[in-house]
Amino acid sequence: MIEHEIAFHQAWYLKSAAELSQLPEDQGAEVAFIGRSNAGKSSSLNIITGIKGLARTSKTPGRTQMINFFALDQKRRLVDLPGYGYAKVPLAVKARWMDNVDEYLRVRECLKGLVIVMDIRHPLKELDQQVLSWAMNCGVPTHILLTKADKLTAGAARNALREVQQALAPCGEAVTVQLFSSIARTGVEEAKQVLTRWLAD
Ligand code: GDP
Repeated sequence: MIEHEIAFHQAWYLKSAAELSQLPEDQGAEVAFIGRSNAGKSSSLNIITGIKGLARTSKTPGRTQMINFFALDQKRRLVDLPGYGYAKVPLAVKARWMDNVDEYLRVRECLKGLVIVMDIRHPLKELDQQVLSWAMNCGVPTHILLTKADKLTAGAARNALREVQQALAPCGEAVTVQLFSSIARTGVEEAKQVLTRWLAD
């Protein structure tokens, strides 16, 4: 099958949802990004689309729990899910975040894949593993970006990649992992290929 080119650079802001009832219609195809706050999720969305400032990089942690939608064309979307792991978030907010993400993963039929963004120096924290297990339970294919790879030497980054791959071996082919850096622009093409495969007709 020849995969359609996806015009990531044409992405535009579609809408934000505070509640699951406010999501755009469940049709077409979307890929969602999620990750601990400060892991580099917004930067990765901006670099993948090539649009500076598309997703707002977080200056104020915990400022927003909104789900942000970016359209790539009339049928395809990238979704920026709220970050997690803020120390100061009240338990009730955390519980609501967990319910919303779990439900979104379970019910959203147009969701073709989940990207979990993790700082390569602190991968697979508790909530990362929680999100991963929800995705696995729902059968949502998952791709992990080990971001800020530029912070490690090439050898250390390769070792970190191998360790995460080994830890995820029980998940089989449902989970893939790669090195990524928004600063050095490492792994951008690899990430786009995964998204293109998921979003292709
Ligand atoms: P988010 O909270 O997950 O959306 O994270 P941001 O994209 O806002 O990034 C958090 C901080 O990490 C910012 O200061 C970014 O400049 C920095 N950052 C993001 N990606 C990278 C990267 O690949 N390398 C380095 N060195 N810094 C990064």
